[in-house]
Amino acid sequence: MKQASFMGDVDLLVVGAGPAGLGAAITARRLGVNVLVVDDQDRPGGQLFKQIHKFFGSKEHMAGRRGFSIGLDLLAEAESLGVTIRLNTKVLGVLENRVIWMMERDGKTVLLQPKRILLATGGMEKAISFPGWTLPGVITAGAAQTMCNIERVLPGRKILMVGTGNVGLIVGYQLLQAGAEVVALVEGADRISGYSVHAGKLRRAGVPVFTGYTVKQAAGTVGVEAAEIIALDNDWNQVAGTEITFDVDTVCLAVGLSPNTLLARMHGCSVVYKPDLGGFLPDHDENMESSIHGVYVAGDLAGIEEASTALDEGRLAGTSVAVSLKMIGNSEAESMKRSIRGRLDNLRKSSSRREEPGFNGVYSLQRMKQVPGYPAEERIKKGAVVVIECAQEIPCDPCVSSCPFGAITLGPDITRLPVLAEDECKGCGMCIAGCPGQAIFMIDYNLAEGKASVAFPYEFLPLPRVGDRVTGTDKSGKAVAEVEILKVDNRKSNDRTPVITVSVDREFIHQVRSIRMEEG
Ligand SMILES: Cc1cc2nc3c(=O)[nH]c(=O)nc-3n(C[C@H](O)[C@H](O)[C@H](O)COP(=O)(O)OP(=O)(O)OC[C@H]3O[C@@H](n4cnc5c(N)ncnc54)[C@H](O)[C@@H]3O)c2cc1C
Repeated sequence: MKQASFMGDVDLLVVGAGPAGLGAAITARRLGVNVLVVDDQDRPGGQLFKQIHKFFGSKEHMAGRRGFSIGLDLLAEAESLGVTIRLNTKVLGVLENRVIWMMERDGKTVLLQPKRILLATGGMEKAISFPGWTLPGVITAGAAQTMCNIERVLPGRKILMVGTGNVGLIVGYQLLQAGAEVVALVEGADRISGYSVHAGKLRRAGVPVFTGYTVKQAAGTVGVEAAEIIALDNDWNQVAGTEITFDVDTVCLAVGLSPNTLLARMHGCSVVYKPDLGGFLPDHDENMESSIHGVYVAGDLAGIEEASTALDEGRLAGTSVAVSLKMIGNSEAESMKRSIRGRLDNLRKSSSRREEPGFNGVYSLQRMKQVPGYPAEERIKKGAVVVIECAQEIPCDPCVSSCPFGAITLGPDITRLPVLAEDECKGCGMCIAGCPGQAIFMIDYNLAEGKASVAFPYEFLPLPRVGDRVTGTDKSGKAVAEVEILKVDNRKSNDRTPVITVSVDREFIHQVRSIRMEEG
């Protein structure tokens, strides 16, 4: 390693170019702070650059856009404002008097003593151990996602996904899109723990969910060849005799994240234990300042949540830094902070996220008909109308802005369920591709004598062709009836969420929600 050299003046050093770090850098720079962002990856965006799905949140969080493009936009915005960004640069340590020691790609080490530091180092994946867990083929969901979405290598052909938080659900869906078979999702709790709309995408593709189960062992000689799951009782003891064996080559662990506190601890920041936020995290005040004056934290490091919250926490930290450096006055800063905190409160309001025990990603028709986005039967019979099957309060609103007729509204905050003004809906279907949860469908009851059409999002290849006759499937991937493809709408504004319209017998309008293309 070469001799470390000292870098010039920096007001704010941001460690981590994820949404938290970039959100802070953009805000602080706008307020006149001289900012340097470093990240050990070769792309900006932290976790975002692996995320190929459309994000939740609101317009302020760039909701409805795919994660990687949000990362690129944040980077462009930061650069256009004059933020200096050094990728491939790892912070190795924090020395005395806030001196930062970092290494660049060429092995050159640099010292720096910024006036303020924001640690936005994200989270780290947790794992569980079981017989066979050291076999090649047992990997974490983050590793699977990096292989699949960055390196373009499928980690395996037949995959057992352990964990049904959002990470397990999203990575499971992306593995399916990449062509792997996800044989099952396994969840120790008695219900799916991630968003039901994410689970719905896998269920429609026919992936079974075993709640109240864990992985008992993985077996194989040079790598995973099989995995056994087993039921758990109420005290999480394994119930002998309930084993189920899957023929798989990969076991993917998505069992949670914890804040990446390495640098914060090295700096001496006090940590607190908050199990609902991922475990130990740096203690911080409402301005995101840690126990050490001038050292701020934001994003997953400050508690595992989401990119939208990470972005706003970063903006809050960036504002706090600007005040502490006297770049803006207190009253201006307080009004900025109030609006950011208001958004954060809203994002955290998802009160009814948890479903009933044993919920496995498929709502009954009876429950669906009670949600405010499901039109009445009389309205359905009048002609084309959308059907919003969104039954869980999560922070998400792109459906509202995607409707050109204002037919979809939310209640007073972003976690409310969408309400459909069914008589205002013109059946244009613009909201189908706009819904990140893929929970909006369209029914045209009066297609022809005894026939209706159903339209749905379909993000798998190969796409069907108009005129094909394929199997129409229900919310759990079960065959319902043969259907004919009427339309494949893959326009640019759908942003790679094709909308497929099929013709079905009228009796199946509440069942058919996807298709299965036969192999070969
Ligand atoms: C599979 C998956 C799907 C997700 N889907 C969604 C979603 O749909 N919607 C949503 O809102 N959120 C989603 N999230 C969550 C979201 O990605 C994270 O909450 C968010 O990225 C956290 O932002 P962050 O800036 O705190 O950390 P990160 O995005 O993790 O960024 C931290 C950065 O710091 C860098 N770093 C760490 N240590 C150092 C060091 N010593 N030196 C230099 N650099 C360092 C890391 O390499 C990384 O680039 C998902 C996460 C995963 C894993």
